[in-house]
Amino acid sequence: MKKRILVTGGAGFIGSHLSEKLLGDGHEVVCVDNFFTGTKDNIKHLLENHNFEIVRHDICFPLYVEVDEVYNLACPASPIHYQFDPVQTTKVNVLGSINMLGLAKRLKIRIFQASTSEVYGNPTVHPQTETYWGHVNTIGPRACYDEGKRCAETLFFDYYRQHKMDIKVARIFNTYGPRMHPNDGRVVSNFIMQALHNKDISVFGDGSQTRSFCYVDDMVEGITRMMNTPKGFTGPVNLGNPSEVSILELGRLIIAITGSSSRMIYKPLPQDDPERRRPNITLAQEKLGWEPTVALEDGIRKTIEYFEEIIKAQEGKKAKVHFKVL
Ligand code: NAD
Ligand code: UDP
Repeated sequence: MKKRILVTGGAGFIGSHLSEKLLGDGHEVVCVDNFFTGTKDNIKHLLENHNFEIVRHDICFPLYVEVDEVYNLACPASPIHYQFDPVQTTKVNVLGSINMLGLAKRLKIRIFQASTSEVYGNPTVHPQTETYWGHVNTIGPRACYDEGKRCAETLFFDYYRQHKMDIKVARIFNTYGPRMHPNDGRVVSNFIMQALHNKDISVFGDGSQTRSFCYVDDMVEGITRMMNTPKGFTGPVNLGNPSEVSILELGRLIIAITGSSSRMIYKPLPQDDPERRRPNITLAQEKLGWEPTVALEDGIRKTIEYFEEIIKAQEGKKAKVHFKVL
């Protein structure tokens, strides 16, 4: 059945891929975004599709639209972006979630929350299962995001218990792929941009910390499968790739694929940087019949191709300006 679906943060990295998939499945998409980290470029290929609408709006303020489902993704995701205005980061998670839950309550519709592995903080349990309550510093620089997302989960479950709402909560682990912001400071985008420019690769700490990287197509498949589980299955469910690598291994892989002459240099480890992260995805396998299919090397190749195109386009623009000036 064709639905009209609200995607908050729809002009962002994951939101733009999700919007594309929902349109491909024959739905209408209302994309709501304030373009804090998202861009019109991410969705420009969707603008001619008359099933796609875009609304510039900050979800910290109430929103009145008539839709059949909500995916709530609006929130900056990279540490430099969410730490740029930490109060706003907490607001988008708390006030934004209240507004989107209010909208879903009024319309009596299903709502999905993009939660995060950051609710586990610097985990003392490895790999992380959904039953683990986490280890978060409430007053550190990452807390605006981690605690904001934890409070959003609390709100979702209170609306579920108090108002009998139909909620779906997924804890998303590190995701990468085309349309990541080239300057978002995340490790995949940083390393690829540095390698393509033959600049030093900035390894924070000694690079022994680990992450588990999920390609965006796999993530979007997991998100939509979670949304379409039977009523009553609320999650939270972990979505991520259980294949764990150290940051040094990631750096070596990117240097090898790009054939770059970059070398790795070491910089101080940011405060509260988690040491290890890997999802246990047994619940997603059982309930969604889902697991990632894209190997890290293949996903990184596709992401490198995307960044190469961006660099070419930027150089093309510069060349045009240069030509005009002459
Ligand atoms: P992103 O920064 O590319 O996208 C977030 C989008 O939300 C952007 O388009 C931004 O402009 C928009 N936005 C921010 N504040 C808003 C507001 N107040 N009102 C309306 N729009 C607003 O990040 P992403 O990587 O696509 O992440 C999407 C969601 O997934 C986020 O909720 C994030 O916390 C979650 N998540 C992402 C990852 C990851 O690795 N990418 C991991 C865990 C969780
Ligand atoms: N990192 C790094 N160099 C960079 C950017 C990040 O070594 O240029 C490290 C960072 O310290 C962390 C890991 O890579 O240990 C993942 O960082 P990212 O910001 O991508 O995601 P998160 O820490 O939120 O998982």
